[in-house]
Amino acid sequence: MAEPALRLRVRDTLTERKVQLAPRTKNGRKALTLYVCGVTPYDSGHMGHAFTFSMFDVLVRFVESGGVKVRYVQNVTDIDDPLFERARRDGEDWKLLAERETAVHIRDMTALGWRAPDLMPRVSEEIGRIKAAANRLHASGYAYRTDALYFDVSRYRGYGRLSHRTRRSMLRKLRDEGLLGTVGPASKRDPLDFPLWRASAPDEPSWPSKFGPGRPGWHIECSAMAMRYLGEQIDVHGGGRDLMFSHHESERAQSESLTHKAPFARAWMHTGLVRYEGRKMSKSLGNLVKVSQALQRAPAAAVRLYLVSHRYSRDWEFDWEALARSARVIERARVVLKRPDGQASAAIIKEFNAALSDDLDTPRAVRTLRLAIRRRDAAAVRWILDILAGTASLT
Ligand SMILES: [Zn+2]
Repeated sequence: MAEPALRLRVRDTLTERKVQLAPRTKNGRKALTLYVCGVTPYDSGHMGHAFTFSMFDVLVRFVESGGVKVRYVQNVTDIDDPLFERARRDGEDWKLLAERETAVHIRDMTALGWRAPDLMPRVSEEIGRIKAAANRLHASGYAYRTDALYFDVSRYRGYGRLSHRTRRSMLRKLRDEGLLGTVGPASKRDPLDFPLWRASAPDEPSWPSKFGPGRPGWHIECSAMAMRYLGEQIDVHGGGRDLMFSHHESERAQSESLTHKAPFARAWMHTGLVRYEGRKMSKSLGNLVKVSQALQRAPAAAVRLYLVSHRYSRDWEFDWEALARSARVIERARVVLKRPDGQASAAIIKEFNAALSDDLDTPRAVRTLRLAIRRRDAAAVRWILDILAGTASLT
């Protein structure tokens, strides 16, 4: 029924152009590779996370509905400062905390009907690969050793290009996030340089390495894992827009310095931020709507539909009233789904595919769902909901 999704075009953050995502044929099978930066598992997921992962789920389902397999990797950052800080504060073992919150993330997203990633590698289980990547960057002169092993940003042309930031604006963001660190002969040469390997605090995990015992810096994990599981160049790299700088900027610099192949990603896709009570939803501000809270107030399919009724790249404000409106749409869809399936309207499916092919225009795709409901076209409603709401549409 679907037209092939091969005409999918998405806007690449780096070039600010729409990129055609033609799949590559590997082992006789058409496939796309997708890497999405996952959670740091130290607190329950909120609607901002659910928005990002639901959007990439629509991408996966849409591409796969056209007969193209997506090889999807989403990492779990279980080695990270906020995780250790939380474990310290609560007197809990970091590993137990990480395992529990990773399970919560998977439970939330399963409730929201995602097609689970093919792989969810944990940083703590990838240390060998990460060290090997750090070693190679050091051996080829892209990194230097002082009190830690730092990536030398001056060796990579175009640092800042992905996030379209000037040096000044990058420095400002690092300062705001408390990531600037100290500059000096015993430390960083340039405030933009970032650690690949660093010493661990006494209560943090530590691994032996030729750079001394310690743990990876934040960014190197994703270069190492993307390369291990998806190859030296990937089709789509995704994540929340707050990761664009410094995380993705640094990941791109590391990966292209390791492989001397550009681009590391054919398309970078960044999701917008979700606001609540007028401000960005964030743990530090405490203005969160957790996935579990939304699921108490509305069926999972309604939560999914509400999330995907926003454009992936834009910021938006969470609103309980709007969630209730999505719940009413799902109720009407369920009434239509009780009717026998006929032939789905070709015009509706064509418009739905055209919407998602055009940079994943989900608000436009949701309008086709409303049209299918009005026409009582059960087959079209089912087809559209399968992609927009995933398996949440079945519960
Ligand atoms: Zn990442």
